[in-house]
Amino acid sequence: MGTDHDKPDVRSALRRAVKAGMVVTEIHNGHRWGMLSCPECGGRGLTIACSPRNQGDMANRIKEFVRKHPGCGKEET
Ligand SMILES: [Zn+2]
Repeated sequence: MGTDHDKPDVRSALRRAVKAGMVVTEIHNGHRWGMLSCPECGGRGLTIACSPRNQGDMANRIKEFVRKHPGCGKEET
């Protein structure tokens, strides 16, 4: 389900985001690989680059996004 990003760090961060109830939408348009969004508050999503210059930084931004939505989606156990 839309979590097969080429970069392992980004991929695992996306998987965790999905587990936390976030939604990943694949776009595959130019440099944009896809979009991470929150189904609960429907706020502004996070654009995921295809080949981020720094995959660790991209992964951190994904984790940060999840942290900003602690009460949204399913709760991780
Ligand atoms: Zn949210």
